[in-house]
Amino acid sequence: MKVQMYSVRPDEDAAIKKNAAELGATIDTVSHDFTPADIPSLAGHDVLCLAQHGAIGSAEDYAAIAAAGVKHIALRITGYDIIDLAAAAANHLKVTNVPAYSPRSVGEMTLTHAMVLVRHLNETRARMAAGDYSWGGMEAEEIHTLTVGIIGVGKIGSAVARLFYALGATIIANDPIHRPELSDVLTYVDKDELLQTADIVTVHTPLDDTTHHLIDADALAKMKSTAIILNCARGPIVDTDALIAALENKTIAAAGLDSIEDENGIFGDNLTGKDVPNARLLKLQTMANVSLSPHMAFYTRPAVENMVAIALHDADTIYNGGVSEHEIRG
Ligand code: NAD
Repeated sequence: MKVQMYSVRPDEDAAIKKNAAELGATIDTVSHDFTPADIPSLAGHDVLCLAQHGAIGSAEDYAAIAAAGVKHIALRITGYDIIDLAAAAANHLKVTNVPAYSPRSVGEMTLTHAMVLVRHLNETRARMAAGDYSWGGMEAEEIHTLTVGIIGVGKIGSAVARLFYALGATIIANDPIHRPELSDVLTYVDKDELLQTADIVTVHTPLDDTTHHLIDADALAKMKSTAIILNCARGPIVDTDALIAALENKTIAAAGLDSIEDENGIFGDNLTGKDVPNARLLKLQTMANVSLSPHMAFYTRPAVENMVAIALHDADTIYNGGVSEHEIRG
């Protein structure tokens, strides 16, 4: 099997070499994102392996990819909106994704933001930077005294539930799907009860029409004034303007965000010395009761290894005439 892999980062090298050896595959790598200009270099490759954002080309480009000999587009990411599934199917190109590479990676970042905020670490560090080493106002709760409300308890929400449960928190959850395997860990409640009761509200739904601005001014107004909101899912699930207002008005106490609205072109890039074109992000960066990370919750060694390994093992399965459980049909 011959694979052409795009958007390859140095941290993926070890996993690529390991899987190439295991599978007896030849894997050619380049660091840039795939564009239609790359199609000629696909000649002789069975698999096109991608990890990028944005549509990869027109319907005609899919025909050219297939004509180069590619039979399978293996995404080593979860989102497959970059693929025109109809055009892929029309050209007999199989498509797979990696639906879950490590729910724990995002779960642990969620827990990290919660801990930073519960222990007032940002405020304390800001004081220390000014020479103030006092403790006044920094008394904290302990996690086992808190109720954690999880909106969206799928793969990642389940990992979050188990992490907080292990620390002794009371877990309540809101999700149209009730999972019996979580009955020892959490209690399902309606969304209003969750917002009114939880000390920490954390969202782990997909971003769609039902979840865009799921946390808006109304939802924030229902929360306790001492509550923390966490978003390690997708930025637009939380209305950023409403959040900034709620933090300034002390409607809620704090926020931990791995993702915010209009982060594309910022999170994941080095903008040192350049303008950061997102005034709301810059405002949040000045607030001591906000803990931010640049959409890197997924970014752990096990997750990176799984993204590479699952994509390449699916490629090998399909190359050998098998069926992958991760195959996506339009
Ligand atoms: P999943 O599909 O396994 O689970 C999502 C859950 O949300 C499901 O149980 C679903 O029933 C529930 N849900 C859907 N709409 C809902 C609504 N309106 N109210 C309540 N519950 C609702 O998804 P996942 O893999 O756990 O991913 C969760 C989120 O994490 C997604 O937004 C994903 O894009 C994001 N994510 C973030 C990172 C990161 O690095 N920050 C990495 C991977 C995934």
